[in-house]
Amino acid sequence: MADGTESQSRKLLRRLQAALAEAGAGQERLDRITSIIAESMGTEVCSIYLLRDSGTLELCATEGLSSEAVHVTRLRVGEGLVGRVAKRLRPINAADAPSEPGFRYMAETGEERYTSFLGVPIQRLGENLGVLVVQSQEERRYSEDEVYALEVVAMVLAEMTELGAFVGEGEAMAARHQRSVVLNGGIGQEGAAEGHVFLHEPRVVVTNPIAEDPEAELERLNDAVDQLRTSVDEMLSNAPKGDKEQYDVLQAYKMFANSRGWMRRMEADIRNGLSAEAAVEKEQSAARARMETVPDAYLRERLHDLDDLSNKMLRLLTGQGRDTGAELPDNPVLVARNIGPGELLEYGRSLRGVVLEEGSVASHAAIVARALAIPLIVNASRITTEALNGDLILVDGDQGVVHLRPEETVTKAFRDKMAMRAAAQERYSSIRDKPAETLDGTVIGLHMNAGLMADLPSLPSSGAEGVGLFRTELQFLTRSTVPRRGSLAALYSRVMDAAGGKRVAFRTLDIGSDKVLPYMKPQDEPNPALGWRAIRVGLDRPGMMRMQLQAMIRAAAGRPLTVMFPFIAQLEEFTKARNHLLRELDREKALGHVLPESVEIGAMLETPSLAFAPRQFFELADFISIGGNDLKQFFFAADRENERVRRRYDTLNVSFLTFIEQIVARCAETDTPLSFCGEDAGRPIEALCFAAMGLRTLSMRPASIGPVKSLLRRVDLREVRSVIHEARENGAQSVREPVMDWLRQQG
Ligand code: PEP
Ligand code: MG
Repeated sequence: MADGTESQSRKLLRRLQAALAEAGAGQERLDRITSIIAESMGTEVCSIYLLRDSGTLELCATEGLSSEAVHVTRLRVGEGLVGRVAKRLRPINAADAPSEPGFRYMAETGEERYTSFLGVPIQRLGENLGVLVVQSQEERRYSEDEVYALEVVAMVLAEMTELGAFVGEGEAMAARHQRSVVLNGGIGQEGAAEGHVFLHEPRVVVTNPIAEDPEAELERLNDAVDQLRTSVDEMLSNAPKGDKEQYDVLQAYKMFANSRGWMRRMEADIRNGLSAEAAVEKEQSAARARMETVPDAYLRERLHDLDDLSNKMLRLLTGQGRDTGAELPDNPVLVARNIGPGELLEYGRSLRGVVLEEGSVASHAAIVARALAIPLIVNASRITTEALNGDLILVDGDQGVVHLRPEETVTKAFRDKMAMRAAAQERYSSIRDKPAETLDGTVIGLHMNAGLMADLPSLPSSGAEGVGLFRTELQFLTRSTVPRRGSLAALYSRVMDAAGGKRVAFRTLDIGSDKVLPYMKPQDEPNPALGWRAIRVGLDRPGMMRMQLQAMIRAAAGRPLTVMFPFIAQLEEFTKARNHLLRELDREKALGHVLPESVEIGAMLETPSLAFAPRQFFELADFISIGGNDLKQFFFAADRENERVRRRYDTLNVSFLTFIEQIVARCAETDTPLSFCGEDAGRPIEALCFAAMGLRTLSMRPASIGPVKSLLRRVDLREVRSVIHEARENGAQSVREPVMDWLRQQG
């Protein structure tokens, strides 16, 4: 970089800083800035266009163009050269602007006299705020150094601004963070919530973008980079061996932390007058802008890593930690890039909802959110850049939509919907103690799914007859070491206490696939859902399963015990698992422990193969529970975690219902009790069709019990069955429409 430009840029920044330090109204200060820039760059014109809403730029200050045009001239993002800069988030440097493609003449600005054009985006961390433009009469192509200098100035503007303040209240400027935004994501947990944003990791605020002493700033930068390298090296040496994904991320961190290019760019920024943190942020902005346009997923991930690393640097430089002392707002909705299960559990039920920029439907966070019954949206891209602490946010977990700073009409419609739900819940409470008995006198047993001690209080209020599925993974997933038998026994015992004598079906550890324990060597499997998971792990490495069985036996201590084994695919697996439990009972007896009063041993039917198992399996199992989430994914060969395919096949597809009917028939031959505990059991129409197919026990989220019971109590199952049979005869693919039509006819 030429020395002349360096000092020009520094001098310019210093003058800007002085101008900004002076008192004055927002508009006055903006005007002063444009004249300083024009003078320093030797151009006749300098203009600032700011984004008024997501699609419109407004001329907010100018030196050189007609002052009449200020707050009058507007253009769409993408329109004219200015609009194109905003759209592409890249500079346009044109020696002869009128001959450039896309040039748009705006008479009111008097700009025809200007030939050359240089426009740079005003952006903050990939967030588009506006465009800074200089123009001159002579045909002049701006040098690289000049482009760079204007970018540095734009960066400072973005930082100093909180641009809204410049233009003053009531003027025609709405900062980006006042606009309402709608984001789509994946459904991690259904439900709806209205609340206020609470950022898990609030943004670092850079308050001093310009620095007087570059040498001191370079030293600060180098110190921070040294600390960063040391901490990355530490993370690398502490990383669990075999976790390839984490290893890749850390290697990428290391690569960036040692990248000469990255350092050189930041050093140049500092020599040009930026503070160390502003230099980090400038590079971070550039990386974010690139992130939006890079089609390659791997590269995008790496840019993400650079973004994370930049955040770490900013925290080191500013001393701002994650914990800013910000208090949880009323009705907090947690917004985060991603969050671990332990951290989410710490927030617990104080949250109304969770929105993650990353994450997946089957992530540990999703499992926790499900257990806590908090609506969760995953993969909501840009949410962490768009949201500010305290923003009003509506989470529609049923549709996978987030409304940030919604318009009043949207909020009103949303509130109406929530009020209808609340009224319905109210109605459900009136039938809480009534049976789920259909008009033809069939009684369906409704149970609840749980996974945390905290779930149990909802047992009495939900009207559930018991816990049809207690998922035991959470206690294993949220710790860094294997939980102790004593603590598990104590927990299971408290769960049974809280259930007050009602049946609790404890499912043994269902890990593998998406659920990887922090202290278990992750397996690099081509198809984890079809891989080494659940009972397969339990039988191959029985130590942990046996410990868990002992804990369950001790917890029962004289009370009835119900255990079920997940993911049984053939008779032999069930026999072996069952034998483990019988052996543990013998051992516990020999050790002098009080045995359970009775023991029920069941299997989860989650693979189609088990439906065709020999009769002996159905005789041996004390009960069978259909894990519909898994069963459906294997029946249709459609990954339950893959957004592209997971909703492609309807649960009410006649093939699937016919399959359920066959399972019911096989269980009937041997009088084996059968239940269904996948998510579909909690959807009223699905529950109704399952009942029509002969299922007599369903287990679901506590909040679903009311709606399911309410529907069941209003129908005659014989009629539903005939609607389904008729649809099947007619070759329907799914019975959803015919059943819905019939329900509508019933009013
Ligand atoms: C299922 O597969 O339906 C089930 C209940 O188990 P999970 O969702 O925990 O895999
Ligand atoms: Mg399952």
